[in-house]
Amino acid sequence: MSLTLEAADLHSAHHHLPREHRDNRGWVGIDRGLAVFAVAATADGTEVARIDTAPKPLVTEVSRQRRLARSVSRKQKGSRNCRDAMARLARHHHRIANIRRHFAHQVANMLVKTHDRLVIEDLNVAGMLGNRHVARAISDAGWADFARLLTYKQAWRSGTVAIADRRYPSSRRCSACAAIKPTLTLADRMFLCECGFCADRDHNAAINLAVWPTINQCFSRSLDLRAGGRVTNVRRREGSDRNPLGVGETVPVDAGTDAHITRDVS
Ligand SMILES: [Zn+2]
Repeated sequence: MSLTLEAADLHSAHHHLPREHRDNRGWVGIDRGLAVFAVAATADGTEVARIDTAPKPLVTEVSRQRRLARSVSRKQKGSRNCRDAMARLARHHHRIANIRRHFAHQVANMLVKTHDRLVIEDLNVAGMLGNRHVARAISDAGWADFARLLTYKQAWRSGTVAIADRRYPSSRRCSACAAIKPTLTLADRMFLCECGFCADRDHNAAINLAVWPTINQCFSRSLDLRAGGRVTNVRRREGSDRNPLGVGETVPVDAGTDAHITRDVS
């Protein structure tokens, strides 16, 4: 099925107010937490969001998945029963993907509605997908997708998403005195600095991301930078394999009234 439609721009009441050219305030850093999905904080250290309710459908429904997979393997190959069992397993996988996607949309919407300037870290997604730890790679892919949602949703509202340089040590930098810790292991849940500063490590990283645009004076070019994830552009059919049933969204360039959106479902 192919569907073509025209989408109007968001109503101007939903847009963020434009900022002065020299205004460098209002940045909110979003760090992906270790135990939580994400932590958002402003440059002055105020935590504006802590999203710790990320759904873990793979954990809660792993037994159902096993049962369905076992059911497929017991069927005679090529039989009608086998085909039906495979369809049930595919629907299960699709449902889990939908739960994840729905959650990412909710969090991204909440953040772009409340803040016009967001900073996220750049993730070397391609490099991380080569990671031996498969579970980590999957969650990284989810994060890249989240960054993509944030970027286009914010563009719809005339807001900004800045991508901090991947060499910026947002986790190891002290947000109080700017000293860089040489090492910080994943086991260190608290960030302790020699200056006496002590904070939750995700909180510290979020503050560091919030001050990154001010440090780098990147206000004007930040809009040109794109999230590190795979871009789902329906016209180029990239990423369409991840979204086989066509549940998805448009990209900013499609939001104009003269744009045509075509989504092919194969
Ligand atoms: Zn310090």
